Amino acid sequence: YAKHSRSHATQLYESGMDERRLRRQKLAVALQTAIEQDTLTLHYQPIYSLATGKIESIEALLRWQSVEHGTVYPLEIIAVAEQHGLAHRLNEWVLHTACSQLHFWHQRGYKPLKVNVNISPSIFMDGELANTVRRVLQQTQLSAAALVLEITEDTSLWDTAGSAETLEQLRALGIEIALDDFGTGYSSFSHLRQLPLNKLKIDKSFVADMVTDVRALNLVKTIISLAHSLDMRVVAEGIEDAAQQDKLAQLGCDLGQGYWLARPMSATAMSEELMAKAARHLSVAKAQ
Ligand code: C2E
Ligand code: MG
Ligand code: MG
Ligand code: MG
Repeated sequence: YAKHSRSHATQLYESGMDERRLRRQKLAVALQTAIEQDTLTLHYQPIYSLATGKIESIEALLRWQSVEHGTVYPLEIIAVAEQHGLAHRLNEWVLHTACSQLHFWHQRGYKPLKVNVNISPSIFMDGELANTVRRVLQQTQLSAAALVLEITEDTSLWDTAGSAETLEQLRALGIEIALDDFGTGYSSFSHLRQLPLNKLKIDKSFVADMVTDVRALNLVKTIISLAHSLDMRVVAEGIEDAAQQDKLAQLGCDLGQGYWLARPMSATAMSEELMAKAARHLSVAKAQ
């Protein structure tokens, strides 16, 4: 009986694998078409200065409403792209779309606003990233100083001697680099010392617990002072209530984003938000 149930479990496991592989293959075909036909979208989530309340930057987040597959979440899109050789095209599509959107906002007078773009780890491996970024900046007419690339602490990133060089090339173009989800990955103090980073993003799991768990709070404090001592600015992600926002501001955290401040939204909704915010500042200035 035991033997039978084990082989049954194995069969279930294997058929689960097949289904997953099949789904991924279908997704890959649909994704390639979506990139070509420009039917992916980006949503935008503001990143605020916690001291002034001004929007300093906007993070671009991938969204895909597929006709055949429904909502596909970004982490699955990225995984499919990585497994099926679409990572470069997807990456370039995201960069291009985000940079031209920001250029549009700059033309509307929302300067100096920046855009944060997430880059998947594998893109760092082939040394093409700096060329791609240079080309996209040229095509979209966006100034390099307005672009922030977010990278995660993936082991493959740190294993390559070339990653520091790639980051140096990117910095030489004048763009900024942020380390995303800090505290959950593999980075060590020597990485922080050797890599040319401008910003650390505190992972939302620490932010979620910091008001109720003194150990999470102490870690947040430590990350902030660590970043500042290395001349980096700190961004807290996943701020979901006023208590977290207040505490982070009090601890000297530079920037923050999260549902409490604003949810990711369409480009159109973001335009309206920027307009409304500009109007509020104008009326405050008039009243003074
Ligand atoms: P991330 O870069 O760490 O982005 C933050 C994620 O947290 C986003 O999830 C965002 O919608 C979500 N978030 C924002 N505020 C809150 C909050 O207050 N509470 C909670 N619980 N979540 C919040 P999303 O959009 O589902 O993206 C997930 C991940 O997928 C991103 O994590 C990033 O690693 C990846 N990703 C998204 N778009 C892209 C892209 O264009 N390229 C690449 N390579 N990766 C992307
Ligand atoms: Mg990010
Ligand atoms: Mg993050
Ligand atoms: Mg994340």
